[in-house]
Formats: sequence, structure tokens, C-alpha cells
Amino acid sequence: NTFEWMGLSEALLKAITEMGYKEPTPVQQEAIPLLLQEDTDIISLAQTGTGKTAAFGLPLLSKIKENSGVPQALILSPTRELCIQIAGELEKFSKYQKSKIVAVYGGANMSTQIKQIKAGADVLVATPGRLMDLMERGVIQLNDIKIVVLDEADEMLSMGFKEDIDAILSQTPEDRHTWLFSATMPEDIKRISKSYMRNPKYISV
Ligand code: AMP
Repeated sequence: NTFEWMGLSEALLKAITEMGYKEPTPVQQEAIPLLLQEDTDIISLAQTGTGKTAAFGLPLLSKIKENSGVPQALILSPTRELCIQIAGELEKFSKYQKSKIVAVYGGANMSTQIKQIKAGADVLVATPGRLMDLMERGVIQLNDIKIVVLDEADEMLSMGFKEDIDAILSQTPEDRHTWLFSATMPEDIKRISKSYMRNPKYISV
């Protein structure tokens, strides 16, 4: 029960070892090998504190090109605090690779975020409202997105981001993959999964 057999790169293994990760948590054991081996959609019922950031973050960082200049992965999360936290974890995971991670969230300086995006982002970690704003300003294009992570999807819906999520997902390529994490599975989430996901695999831990 270690990270070594899963197929992660040496760079990622070195980083998580330095972070003190020894054994994968249950959601990591399920999600990481699956997402590394297959291009698939997943739905995971996982609460905060279960290690879900690494469960999606490590496969995501394995699958994207480093330093590409265009966003290839998009992580949507309900709050500014979560965005900062996720982006911080991804930065640590990518200590030995050159992935560029940019967080965009409301309540912070818009022009700083625009500069960061223009300097080139491989991974965007965003709240739906601010992302919509930047898309409407023509600053962000989602044409090269390969993976969308919906983190705390139930929280995003209860905060009223339903329309924004619809608008954002419909502007990403149809052949992207969607990885949905939610603590609960209300009707609206089932609807999102029906409209935007293809044969999702279920991970329950
Ligand atoms: P999360 O549920 O992703 O917010 O993770 C909760 C906390 O557990 C974070 O501080 C992680 O850095 C930490 N963590 C996640 N996975 C592991 C692991 N396999 N070993 C040790 N710590 C971990």
C-alpha cells in the first residue's frame, strides 16, 4: 500500500515524499491508478480531509504538458480559500516539474490575475464567478482544456453557481474529461453528470 506502484512520475513521487505522504488514502488508492491508466470521467463521493486534492491533483499533473502556455486543466471550486489551498497543494506537488498553476477567484485584484494568465497557465484553479468574468473579458479561453475537475460540486450548486457551471462546461471541448467530487449527490448534480459526463466511473470511499 504505497504510491510507488501507481505509475506516478519520479518528480511527483519525490515531491509527495518530501511532503510526508507515505500511504495513499482510500480515495487516492482508488482514483490515482484509475485516472493514470484510463481517460475516463469519474464521480467521487469524497468529503474534505480525505486527501481528494492529491487524488485528482497527481493524475492531473501527470496528464498535462508542462509549460504549454495554454490552460489544459481547469479546477472549479466554490470559494476563494479553497482555490488558494488547492493551488498551493498543486504547487507543492509540482516542485520538480514545470507546470504553471494559476488561481483566479473573486475579491482579489483582477489585473494581477490577468497578468498571471497572460504569462501562461497550464492549470487554472478558479471560482466560477471570477472565471466567467475573465472569459467574458476575453482573457481566458478554454479551447485546450482536457480535464475539468468539479470540486465540492454540491457546495458550488448551493452557492448559486449552477448557471456559471453550465456556461463554463459548455465552453470546454466535448472530448474533455470531467472528474466530479461531491460530499452529497443532490438532483442537480445528477443532472450535471447526465448533461456533461460520459460513462462516469463511480468511486466511493
Ligand atoms: P484534502 O482532503 O485533499 O484537503 O487533504 C487533507 C490533508 O491531508 C492535506 O493537508 C493533505 O496535504 C494531507 N494528505 C493528503 N493525502 C495524504 C497522504 N497520503 N499522506 C499524508 N497526508 C496526506
